[in-house]
Amino acid sequence: MRVVRTRAALREALATSPRPIGLVTTMGWLHDGHRALMARARAENGTVVATIFVNPRQFNVATDYSKYPRNEARDLAICEGEGVDLVFAPEVDEIYPPGFDTTVSVGAVAQPLEGAARPGHFDGVATVVAILFDRVGADRAYFGQKDGQQVMVIAQMARDLAIGTRVVTCPTVREPDGLALSSRNVHLSSAERAAAPVLRRALLAAHGAWHGGERSGDALRGRMRDLLAEEPLADVEYVSVADAATLQELEVVDRPALASLAVRFGTTRLIDNEPMGQPTPD
Ligand code: AMP
Repeated sequence: MRVVRTRAALREALATSPRPIGLVTTMGWLHDGHRALMARARAENGTVVATIFVNPRQFNVATDYSKYPRNEARDLAICEGEGVDLVFAPEVDEIYPPGFDTTVSVGAVAQPLEGAARPGHFDGVATVVAILFDRVGADRAYFGQKDGQQVMVIAQMARDLAIGTRVVTCPTVREPDGLALSSRNVHLSSAERAAAPVLRRALLAAHGAWHGGERSGDALRGRMRDLLAEEPLADVEYVSVADAATLQELEVVDRPALASLAVRFGTTRLIDNEPMGQPTPD
C-alpha cells in the first residue's frame, strides 16, 4: 500500500494502477462502516484508492472540525488490512491552495434536512468530492447509506458535472444494538451511548407502522417523535418522512420514501435513516 500526500504523487501513482479504480472517500477515524466500503471496492476493482481528509469546508461549526477524532497510523493499518492499494492523505493546503475560491453548490436535494440544519455543509462536501473525483478519475466511488442525503447530493453533482465516476451506495453498518457506526460515537458518554440506539428504534417503529399500512406522513413522523420522547438524553433536531427522490416531506406516503432523523446527545449530533419502499442499496 502506498500513501501519497500531494496531487502530483497521486497522479504518478495512478498512472500505473490497474483499472477499474474504486474510490472510498473518508475523514478518517475508520470503523467497520468504512471497512465495508473498502471491502466492496476491493471485490469490484483492480485498484482501490482511499482518501483520508478531514474537510474543513463541510463543518459549519469550527469546534466540530477541531475536535473531529484523528489517528492516521491506526487508519492506515485498517486500510492496509482491507487491501487498499493507495491512500491519498493530503494536508488542507493541498486540496485548497491559497487563493482557492470555488464552491460546488448542489440545488434542491441539498436544501432540506442536513442542508437546512447545517448551512454550508453540502457545499463543502460537494466541493471536496468534486475535487477528489477529478483527481482520482475513479470508475466507481463507494458511499454509505448512513449518510443518505449525502449520497443523493453527490450523485446529483456527478450527474450534472458529467463526471464519469459511478456512485455506489452501500448498506449502513451497525453495532449489535442498532446504533449506526460513526466516527462521532466516540464522543458519547456512557449514558449517551446507552441511550443512542433510540434512533434505530424510532426508525424501525416508523418502518413497522408503514409496513402495517400507515400512510400518513404526520402519523409516521409522530411515531418517531413519541419513541424519541421516551429517552430524556435525546434532543431531537428533526424527524422526516420524505420523498426518496426529492427529500420533500410527504403528507401521504404513496411512493418510495426515506425516514430520517437527527438527534443530539449532549454535544454529539447523530443521524440515521431507513428507506421505506425503495430499492435497498446496490
Ligand atoms: P466519513 O468518514 O464519516 O466522511 O464517512 C466516509 C464514508 O463512510 C461515507 O460514504 C459514509 O456514508 C460512510 N459511512 C460512515 N458510517 C457508515 C456506516 N455506519 N455504514 C456504512 N457506511 C458508513
